[in-house]
Amino acid sequence: MIRVHLAALVAACCALAFPAHAQDRIDVVTTTTDLRSLTEAVGGERVAVVSIVPAGMDAEEYQAKPQDVSRLRNARMIVRVGLDYDLWAERLLLQAGNSAIRRGGPGYVDASYGIATLEVRGMSVGPGDGHAHGNGNPHYWLDPKNAEIVTGTILEALTRLDPANARSYQANRSAFLARLQLKLAEWEAKLTSLRGMPLVAYHNSWPYFARRFRLDFVAFIEMKPGVPPSPAHLAEIIRSMRARNVKIVVREPHEPKRDVDFVAGKAGAAVVTLAASVGALPQAGDYIALFDANVAALTATAP
Ligand SMILES: [Zn+2]
Repeated sequence: MIRVHLAALVAACCALAFPAHAQDRIDVVTTTTDLRSLTEAVGGERVAVVSIVPAGMDAEEYQAKPQDVSRLRNARMIVRVGLDYDLWAERLLLQAGNSAIRRGGPGYVDASYGIATLEVRGMSVGPGDGHAHGNGNPHYWLDPKNAEIVTGTILEALTRLDPANARSYQANRSAFLARLQLKLAEWEAKLTSLRGMPLVAYHNSWPYFARRFRLDFVAFIEMKPGVPPSPAHLAEIIRSMRARNVKIVVREPHEPKRDVDFVAGKAGAAVVTLAASVGALPQAGDYIALFDANVAALTATAP
């Protein structure tokens, strides 16, 4: 009798903690933490999402690991950034041999679908061009408005895989977008003081963010995306910062502190550390917190 009682208690407690049974959840693999956060916003308790690139790592320089292949083998859905940002995922998908999530499969999601890409140059990346941005600037999740498109694409895929719960996914997405809409107004209001102010960043992660909030990134410390600066390039950056009175240099936590501190010091500018991905800063724990953290950091440093 006592045993039955205990089992019933355990069952009741677990049902409370996990309304969708863990084994029923849809296993989703995303290439980045940003897409993990957006997938969780739509999927809620019905999805179990892991990001291949851990928080705080540069996804454009990611070296795949054997565990990534086994994750993809067992996944029902993959969500990737596309636009050559996570090209390494191609090989992983081939190795995993999971037909459900290969390109064209029911669980394959390229989150760049429907996004208006910035900085498309219509030329291929040559050997001296660095690794990145050959297909336009891929950092589109840094415009919160683009989350509407991305969550729409994710909603479509989840509905395809799990039509019985379509309404719940729609409701999750609507609630998330309503919250995002309110936050966007708050972020826009807070960043008005930085409008038109010239900024320099290490890597060109910011055109979508800058367009949304009317910021003005005038130069980048990298020679080209993925190519570290030469001494001559650093000197040129310092000259143009002085000429244009640039007072803020933006750095992401994984970027070399030495180069950023050097140009900021020479030009008399402050360094602001921003998260270009969820988890890159401890306070940027999810998609909305990412913008909260960046807006707070920028407004705290604005002269
Ligand atoms: Zn990049």
